[in-house]
Amino acid sequence: LFLTFEGPEGAGKSTQAQLLADWYRRKGREVVLTREPGGTELGTELRKLILTRPMQPETEFLLYSADRAEHAVTVIRPALARGAVVLCDRWLDSSLAYQGYGRGLSLDWLRAVSSGFLGELKPNLTFLFKISPRLGLWRAKHRRVSNEPDRFEAEELAFHQKVLDGFLELARQESDRFVVLDVEKPYANEVQAKLRRYLEERGM
Ligand code: C5P
Repeated sequence: LFLTFEGPEGAGKSTQAQLLADWYRRKGREVVLTREPGGTELGTELRKLILTRPMQPETEFLLYSADRAEHAVTVIRPALARGAVVLCDRWLDSSLAYQGYGRGLSLDWLRAVSSGFLGELKPNLTFLFKISPRLGLWRAKHRRVSNEPDRFEAEELAFHQKVLDGFLELARQESDRFVVLDVEKPYANEVQAKLRRYLEERGM
């Protein structure tokens, strides 16, 4: 079972993925909780590079892809082959939203490059956390504890609005795979209860 968590910053994706990992582990399932960028040792290096150095959108996408390729081959595919539940914080949809809708790269190009190394690998379900850019950015800033410099912090709301609209468009195009969750108001435990109910109803 391959589940991904997508959405703008500060939407609570990581918290929800962590809580869901606890839930599956209590049921006795093997869980691989991972994220991108940075789900492998090489990916950690790539993450630092991507998040701290200004670069062209094309370069940025190719570095995210390098991270994703390494992650897919060395972590995700083997875990799925063992029957583990894979919970991944961000995946290809983030590239489509940020580098595609946000930075204006061709979605066809992004998809063509990605299919070269992902093949048929696709999440069974993608939870899209919907939060207004204003609130999301505010939350992201106030919870940031690491000293990882974040060049995205300075970007304006307009960019994040484009990213959010992009995510919502992707969800409309693939409504079977996406579950859109409005996280503007509810508390983390309410969101988690909703996720679990949803998964239980589908026998996942
Ligand atoms: O998920 P997390 O917030 O840790 O992501 C790190 C940063 O990378 C965020 O600022 C996010 O907006 C950005 N990002 C991006 N394109 C991706 C994935 C993440 O711009 N494909």
